[in-house]
Amino acid sequence: MEDSRFPSLDARVRAVVEALGGAFREGPDWVSYHALNAECLYVTPSVRPWMGEADLVGRSFANWPMNDEDRTRWASVWMEVVTGRMARRLVWRHEKVGAVRWMESVLLPDEWRGELVGVMAWHRDVTDRQEREWALEASIQRLQLAYGLARSGYWELDVATRRLTWSQEVYDIWETDPEHFAATYDAFLETVVPEDRLLVEQAVSRAMHTHTYELEYRIRTGRGQIRFVRSVGRYHEHGGGRGVLFGAVQDVTAQKESELALAASRELLARSDKLAAVGQLAAGIAHEIRNPLTALRGFIDLMYQRARSNNRRYLEIMRGEVSRMEAIVSELLRLARPDRPQFQQLDLVDLVQEVVAFMSAQALLHGVEIQYEPRAASVMVEGDPNQLKQVFINLMRNGIEAMQPGGALRVLVWEDGGRARVQIADQGSGMPPEALARIGEPFFTTKEQGTGLGVMVSKRMVADHGGDLRIESEVGRGTTVTVLLPAAKSNA
Ligand code: ADP
Ligand code: MG
Repeated sequence: MEDSRFPSLDARVRAVVEALGGAFREGPDWVSYHALNAECLYVTPSVRPWMGEADLVGRSFANWPMNDEDRTRWASVWMEVVTGRMARRLVWRHEKVGAVRWMESVLLPDEWRGELVGVMAWHRDVTDRQEREWALEASIQRLQLAYGLARSGYWELDVATRRLTWSQEVYDIWETDPEHFAATYDAFLETVVPEDRLLVEQAVSRAMHTHTYELEYRIRTGRGQIRFVRSVGRYHEHGGGRGVLFGAVQDVTAQKESELALAASRELLARSDKLAAVGQLAAGIAHEIRNPLTALRGFIDLMYQRARSNNRRYLEIMRGEVSRMEAIVSELLRLARPDRPQFQQLDLVDLVQEVVAFMSAQALLHGVEIQYEPRAASVMVEGDPNQLKQVFINLMRNGIEAMQPGGALRVLVWEDGGRARVQIADQGSGMPPEALARIGEPFFTTKEQGTGLGVMVSKRMVADHGGDLRIESEVGRGTTVTVLLPAAKSNA
């Protein structure tokens, strides 16, 4: 406005007000004009949906319907405008009974002849915009939350300086913080498990050519945990050959672990498939072989009685071999058509005692002593006595066969936490992890005369009893096999 047009301040303000009144007769915006003490000198008629003109004129904004917090903000913004002579914006809540509207006010210092003479304030309803902004903010927050939940973070590598930038989420995954992490490529490589370092370095150098980066690797976190992470990135080159590799990294440990568990159970499934196939095959073959074997054995015995001494030696060998074939066949038959177990209440302390007595002769032949140490007077279980005997015979036999003369086979029986336990501990050769992993597989044997069926049949019988067979072994020290069975209610 041209200062010279107005002979006095009053005249100027009147002119300003007139102009405003004309421009803001109708909503939605309204404009107020204030003296330096904040008193409202004038307000446009378009204020009416908000407040009565009489509520405003002659009073300061301290009377406007807003809460104390907004009033304080108004006061400080007002001070900034008046003392700093600068325009200011603020958003506040217009609180009329029953309705809250968000108002945006822009305060402009009004100078006349180099003097600050008043403040003009322009007000508008921004409720809709404000709600859109909140919706946006809320969805950004949700996104950040999802980002956090997915445990993925942002990283950036300056290829020339080898400096790294990590977002908080990356630090969280690595279980460290900027104080404990040097934020360089080399410090990062240190956190990658040694087996995966080459993989990471190759992926990084490949990214320089292909511009893409994607791999999974393992890290050791600041707290010593091993985690699987998945990282995807892009390589971007600014001018002058300076490049950055940047991307996102995610903790996929849980996913990886369930993948591994799945693979393990698939293998188990494959093994039980094998078992089923073996079973069917065994049923057919064993049946066909059993009768001819019986005939062979009968005639060998007959010939033996009539043979001369050097022929007897051959016949003895033949008889031994036929016995072995019979043993294999009957074990195969048991596997193919396991007898339906006949369950009854029985005392494991007695049952194991019987097996120990039965096995002692064989043990003695090997120069092995069986030490039987029942830890209770009786341990009752529901079970099939013949099957359980077979299990303990198989396991004790393995123990004896694994030992050198002079060793002791300890057999313990006790009950603990509702489970009956029989433990057979030998001081034998033990098993390397590869053998331990395969034990119980059909036909897995390391013995010249072995069938590789003993442990499998035992496992199966124990499982039929709702129990569990556990094997611990250490090469050179021995093997401990524990059979766990559900204990019967002792007072039943
Ligand atoms: P077999 O005794 O006929 O070989 P098993 O199923 O009973 O078949 O045992 C399979 C294999 O597991 C054995 O050949 C042996 O290598 C290993 N094994 C089982 N029990 C023991 C044990 N107590 N000590 C060492 N190795 C054992
Ligand atoms: Mg065996």
